[in-house]
Amino acid sequence: MARRKKIYEGKAKILYEGPEPGTIVQYFKDDATAFNAEKRDVIEGKGVLNNRLSEFFMTGLACVGIPTHFIKRLNMREQLVRSCEIIPLEIIVRNYAAGSMSKRLGIEEGTQLPRPIIEYCYKDDALGDPLVSEEHIAAFGWASPQDMDDVMSLALRVNDYLSGVLYAVGIRLVDFKIEIGRVYEGDFQRLIIADEISPDSCRLWDIETGRKLDKDVFRRDLGSLTDAYAEVARRLGVMPKGATGMTKPTLIN
Ligand code: C5P
Repeated sequence: MARRKKIYEGKAKILYEGPEPGTIVQYFKDDATAFNAEKRDVIEGKGVLNNRLSEFFMTGLACVGIPTHFIKRLNMREQLVRSCEIIPLEIIVRNYAAGSMSKRLGIEEGTQLPRPIIEYCYKDDALGDPLVSEEHIAAFGWASPQDMDDVMSLALRVNDYLSGVLYAVGIRLVDFKIEIGRVYEGDFQRLIIADEISPDSCRLWDIETGRKLDKDVFRRDLGSLTDAYAEVARRLGVMPKGATGMTKPTLIN
């Protein structure tokens, strides 16, 4: 049997060459890491839940006209995505203060921000993904000013969509991170949402109780991470049957 080609292995995902040119198979691992991989564990079932949740959010974004890399889910842990040239930035949108912003600016976690605030971090594990400004982005050529206008507009549209969908099921979208890539169509370039959108990359708090339903459960040792993610999946109606992580992935080629 032919072995498929691994393109990249990250902390939570593996990318394989897809069946057709311009496609990639994105495999969701059960590995959880935090604090730039200083804390790590294997959380059974996390990959299955994130595969489903990312599918749900990406499909929803496409329905409201926001282009994404998602093509289709292949199995419990894998989805087929469009290959793109990732802009080397982590784009963070914050509605409430939390995490690194609270630490950096001394604002109490949970404080509502006057408006959504977008931050950019340069994607570089060795440097710990440092916060950068649009000046750095333009000067070092990571993205053009035109790209950045589109990035900002996409980030705010994703925020509106996600906030609404989650609010409807009693969840507050505190903040989230997205990645954006370029695709080329003839002479034109378009930006699309890439990577994943899941409780690994969002802060999600229960509106009534404040219970954390995201990766902070792992970062801060607050209980079962799969219980938290399964609760998000259950409320959104995307809880897969038997999401125990025990199912072996099916190789597609
Ligand atoms: O740590 P910080 O407060 O800056 O994180 C802001 C948001 O971005 C959180 O939802 C976090 O889960 C997400 N994030 C991420 N990947 C990173 C850094 C942050 O998904 N490397």
